[in-house]
Amino acid sequence: MSRYDAIIIGTGQAGPSLAERLAKAGQRVAIIERGRFGGTCVNNGCTPTKTLIASAYVARLAQRAAEYGLRAGGRLVVDMARVKARKDALVDSSRTSLENWLRSLPDVTVYAGHARFVDAHTVAVGADRLTGERIFIDVGGRPHVPNLPGLEQVSWLTNESMMDVDFLPEHLLIVGGSYVGLEFGQMYRRFGSKVTIVEMAPRLIGREDADVSDAVREILAAEEIEIRLDAKCIALEATQSGVLLRLDCATGEPVAAGTQVLLAVGRVPNTDDLGLRAAGIETDARGYIRVDEALRTSAENVYALGDCNGRGAFTHTAYNDYEIVADNLLNGTNRKVGDRIPIYGLFTDPPLGRVGLSEAEARRAGYRLLIGRMPMTRVARAREKGETQGFMKVLVDADSKHILGAAILGVGGDEAVQSLVDAMYGHLPYTEVQHGVRIHPTVCELLPTVLSELAPA
Ligand SMILES: Cc1cc2nc3c(=O)[nH]c(=O)nc-3n(C[C@H](O)[C@H](O)[C@H](O)COP(=O)(O)OP(=O)(O)OC[C@H]3O[C@@H](n4cnc5c(N)ncnc54)[C@H](O)[C@@H]3O)c2cc1C
Repeated sequence: MSRYDAIIIGTGQAGPSLAERLAKAGQRVAIIERGRFGGTCVNNGCTPTKTLIASAYVARLAQRAAEYGLRAGGRLVVDMARVKARKDALVDSSRTSLENWLRSLPDVTVYAGHARFVDAHTVAVGADRLTGERIFIDVGGRPHVPNLPGLEQVSWLTNESMMDVDFLPEHLLIVGGSYVGLEFGQMYRRFGSKVTIVEMAPRLIGREDADVSDAVREILAAEEIEIRLDAKCIALEATQSGVLLRLDCATGEPVAAGTQVLLAVGRVPNTDDLGLRAAGIETDARGYIRVDEALRTSAENVYALGDCNGRGAFTHTAYNDYEIVADNLLNGTNRKVGDRIPIYGLFTDPPLGRVGLSEAEARRAGYRLLIGRMPMTRVARAREKGETQGFMKVLVDADSKHILGAAILGVGGDEAVQSLVDAMYGHLPYTEVQHGVRIHPTVCELLPTVLSELAPA
C-alpha cells in the first residue's frame, strides 16, 4: 500500500496543474492515467481539431485567392497525409511535453493504468493499492455511441477515430449537427469531401438562439454542405460504396448515401468503470458525478473536476475547476463553480463566440431586455479581410444596465466576445464598455456602436 496526501485520476485539463500546485504546497501526490497523457483536448479534441481547421482555412483562402487579386498556380491539391502529419506533430509534442513535465515534478508519482476505487480513500491501479487523504477525479468523457438500427453493419467513425484518417472521404455523412459535427463538416468540405450533416432536431446547435443557428446553417449551406434537419428516425445500412442513412426527415429524400459516417452525437462521462459505488460517490442518471458548488462529491475528501462532473464541457471549465479546488484548499478562499460565467466558442469559420445568457435564456429568466444587433458587414476590418458573414448581438438588462450575454458570429468572434466578459464579472454598467475607446480597425471596435443602438426587445 502506497500512501499519498493526494491522488489524482486522469491527466486531462484539471489533473496535471492540480498535481503541480499540491506538490509545490508540500503534498505527496500520485497521478494516474490509463490512456494518452493530456486527455481529450490534447489528443482528440481542441488541439487536433483546431490544427486541422487551420489547414482547412488555408484551403478555403487558396480557393478564394482570385478574390484578393492573387493568381495561384494550377489546381489546389489537399494532401491529407501531410495535413494529418502536421496535426500529429503538434499533438505528439503537446502530449510528450506534458508527460515529461509531469514525470519530472518533485513529489509527484505517475502511475500508468486504469484506476478504480476500492473504498473512499483507496484506489487500485493494476496490482498497486494507493491510499490518499484526498482524491480528485478528472476522468473526462468519451464519444456517445447511440443505439441506432443497423449500426453494427457499418464501420463508423467518432471524433477519436477521425484522428487516424489520412485520406479524403468521398462523401462524409455526419450524424449530429452540434459543435463537433459542424467543425468536422466544414473542415472536410473545405478539404474537398462532399458532406451531409444530419440532425434530429429542427435546427443546428439547438442550445443557441434560432437567429444564430440559422445564420450558421446559411454559412455552411453556402459552402455546399448538405444539411438534413428533423431526422427523427435514423437507421444505417452498409452498401457497396459505403453507408446509407435512412432518415425520417421533414424535407428531402428519405435517405442519404455516403462513403463514411461520423457519429457526433454528444459525449458520456468515463464514470461507469471507476468503482464509484464502492466509494459511496453519487452520480446523476446520465453518469455525471454529483458535486456541490466547491466540486466536492458525496464522499468526504473526494472531488470531481472537469467534464465528468457535468458542470462544464470545455477545457477552460475543467481548468477553472482546478483553480477553484486548489484555491479553496490551499488559500482558504470560498470560490464556487456557480460564479463562473459561461463562455465558449464554436470554431467554424467564421467562428461563433458566446458569453453569458442566450436571448432565449434571458427571456425565460424574465429580464427586461435591451438588445443590440449588427451585421458583420458594419465591421471595417471584416470588409477589409473579405470575411463579412455573420452578426453580433449583445443583451443588456434594462433595469441594472448589466450585460447579460452576447453572441458574435463573425471573423474574430471567438476573441472579440471575450472583451465583454471582464465587464460582466465586474458587474459594470454597459455604458462603461460603450464609452471605452477601441483599436481601429478591429472587430471589438464595433461593440460600443452596438451598445449605443440598444433597443427594447
Ligand atoms: C472534437 C472535440 C473538440 C473539442 N474542442 C474544444 C475546444 O476547442 N475548446 C474547448 O474548450 N474544449 C473543446 N473540447 C472539449 C475538451 O476537450 C474537454 O472539455 C476537456 O478535454 C475536458 O477535460 P477533462 O480534464 O475533464 O477530461 P479529459 O481531457 O477527457 O481527460 C480525462 C483523462 O482521464 C483519463 N481516465 C479516464 N478514466 C480513467 C481511469 N479510470 N483511470 C485512469 N485514467 C482515466 C483519460 O484517459 C483521460 O486522459 C472538444 C472536445 C471534442 C471531443
